[in-house]
Amino acid sequence: MTHIKEMVVVSGKGGTGKTSITGALSFLLQDKVIADCDVDAANLHMILNLDEVLLTKEFFGGKKARIVPERCTHCGKCRDVCLYDAISEDFVIDLVSCEGCGACHFLCPAEAVDFDERLAGYCYICSTEDNGRFVFAEMLPGEENSGKLVAMVRNEAREEAKKMGHELILIDGPPGIGCPVISSLTGTHLAVIVTEPTPAGAHDLKRIVELTNHFQIKTAVVVNKSDINASYVEATRQLCKDNGLVYLGEIPYEPKITEAQKEAKTILDFAPQCVASGAIREIHTKLQSILEEL
Ligand code: SF4
Ligand code: SF4
Repeated sequence: MTHIKEMVVVSGKGGTGKTSITGALSFLLQDKVIADCDVDAANLHMILNLDEVLLTKEFFGGKKARIVPERCTHCGKCRDVCLYDAISEDFVIDLVSCEGCGACHFLCPAEAVDFDERLAGYCYICSTEDNGRFVFAEMLPGEENSGKLVAMVRNEAREEAKKMGHELILIDGPPGIGCPVISSLTGTHLAVIVTEPTPAGAHDLKRIVELTNHFQIKTAVVVNKSDINASYVEATRQLCKDNGLVYLGEIPYEPKITEAQKEAKTILDFAPQCVASGAIREIHTKLQSILEEL
């Protein structure tokens, strides 16, 4: 059976260039399935050469209550029991405020509260122009449970990898250190943290390193926009040494990355000869040797 390796690109905060770097790596890595697990703000698909959506799957995030007006006697018991003030004076449930605890459903004497799984988003399985596969998802506005949707994206990516006989899944993880990030990290074989040399970048890097240490995931670090502060780059190198992390390298600030985004391309596609593209190629070479050893 094929041993599928999962590599996740994460950042302790948004705006570090994580998705641009994941897109560029996807250009270089062969025989892989790509998964965008940033389900609250998926945008990797905008810079990939997608061919078509092969399959759309519905995502049900959890149960929410709904009062059926024809059965409701306006007794008010549901409003009394709801701890989240989700039920209005005219007995309509605000689906954003409803936490899905089910109390109103079980207590209603008229059985007027339906309590069903709600459609909370969609998961898309797409083909790419190089005949690869790309899986991403979108939450519907106001819906929750993005950790569960991340798990769905990862499962679908694994199924595609098995079908295609690919040994690698490249995951674009969400920013931060919350529940969706944990869902993206758990059980992966390699975490690549993209950071930037600023006080906020250093602070968030430490927090996400704590997470990857906790889950005992082999971790490597890339410093993006490395030329904006040499002392923070040095501090990041030292942090890697102190924590047994792989220091993958640096990518200098490159305005062409923004231009590439405007053209819906990765930097390697848009400006293959620029300094940042060269730095990403070097990082890819190091990653290849790490992946071979996993
Ligand atoms: S408890 Fe049931 S019957 Fe009473 S107001 Fe609420 S929904 Fe209507
Ligand atoms: S399910 Fe719970 S949170 Fe939602 S409206 Fe009913 S009592 Fe309130």
